[in-house]
Amino acid sequence: MKLIFETDYNQILARVEAIDPIKYGKTRNYLNGDVTYLSPYISRGVISTKQVLKSVLDRGFELNQIESFIKELAWRDYFQRVWQEKDIDLDIKHPQEKVSNFETPIEIPNGRTGIQGIDNAIKKLYDTGYMHNHCRMYTASLACNIGQSHWKNPAKWMYYHLLDGDWASNACSWQWVAGSNSGKKYFANQENISRYTNTPFQNSFLNADYEELASMGIPEVLKRTTKFDAQTVLPQSQALTFNPEFPSFIYNYYNLDPLWHAGEPGNRILLLEPEVFQQYPISSKCLDFMLNLSKNIPDIQVFVGSFEALKSECQSEKIYFKEHPLNRHYNGIEESRDWISEKVKGYFPSFFAYWKVLEKEIKKAY
Ligand SMILES: Cc1cc2nc3c(=O)[nH]c(=O)nc-3n(C[C@H](O)[C@H](O)[C@H](O)COP(=O)(O)OP(=O)(O)OC[C@H]3O[C@@H](n4cnc5c(N)ncnc54)[C@H](O)[C@@H]3O)c2cc1C
Repeated sequence: MKLIFETDYNQILARVEAIDPIKYGKTRNYLNGDVTYLSPYISRGVISTKQVLKSVLDRGFELNQIESFIKELAWRDYFQRVWQEKDIDLDIKHPQEKVSNFETPIEIPNGRTGIQGIDNAIKKLYDTGYMHNHCRMYTASLACNIGQSHWKNPAKWMYYHLLDGDWASNACSWQWVAGSNSGKKYFANQENISRYTNTPFQNSFLNADYEELASMGIPEVLKRTTKFDAQTVLPQSQALTFNPEFPSFIYNYYNLDPLWHAGEPGNRILLLEPEVFQQYPISSKCLDFMLNLSKNIPDIQVFVGSFEALKSECQSEKIYFKEHPLNRHYNGIEESRDWISEKVKGYFPSFFAYWKVLEKEIKKAY
């Protein structure tokens, strides 16, 4: 059955209600496992990790039954915290080792690496805007650790196509795989890929043990590289109507929360800043997804331009927005995003250091 990401808020809430966190814990590593497919909604700020966790606990699940599910939600908050503290466009912990190019092996965007489980996942990414977590890891490992590309250009390619594109989870995960945000590079061999992607075993260049993979040269199929350099085609700005007596609420690619200040009078603006999309381009599929999600917010209007330009046009005394690393140049009334725990903040060098503190807070708060 084709994977479809509906954009109606009630359908999204129904997805949250349908999560089986216990089955999730047992099967999530497999391509056909019981994952939630919620990331496109969490990344676009339609729902939050906190909201998902609360919903699951309200249905009666105990914390200790669903630890592996909570941990995955926590990974997302963790990467957001890293982005608040670090320039994640740069190698975070140390320079990536064994880099021979700053492009992308061309057969990765072509979906013709010859590794069936990965090629299928790339085609599915183009078709649906989604890729399973393990396939993301396999693809990143192929690009950075076997193809020896620096992580950033292929990461931008993947981000461009993912409906759940979130630069924090994306850049930090690519760097985790490539070893610049972890102690060692991540490798997957053919046997591992075939097992988790339910594809037949192949006698490919990945049919090797982990030491061999770490020391091998670039296979022929990954030698030719290309610079991924796509653009975002933004829509036209609407002719906006503002009531200057009302506050303005600013939505953007990372905040499409229909419950935020819901019911209060205000000007609701979806702000699309060309500079942000030049730095982090997205596909037209992702753009349409965002625009459709924004329809859950009554009377929202689209403004394409800078925050400064919007500010001088709307004339509101009060401009509200949600905190986010891409909004540091906004000025007005900044409000917090929803976190699993607002209290656990700052930079933790590892997820496990973060988790140890977060786990205690979760036990107190939920
Ligand atoms: C190379 C690479 C690139 C990635 N890029 C992105 C990205 O751009 N945007 C994005 O949202 N996630 C990214 N991830 C993390 C992860 O793959 C996705 O969040 C997950 O696959 C989303 O599918 P799901 O909602 O079905 O997740 P589920 O497994 O059902 O998990 C539930 C929720 O927990 C969070 N979560 C689960 N696993 C992770 C993880 N490893 N890291 C962070 N959060 C997690 C997500 O919010 C997810 O929606 C990336 C991972 C890798 C290895």
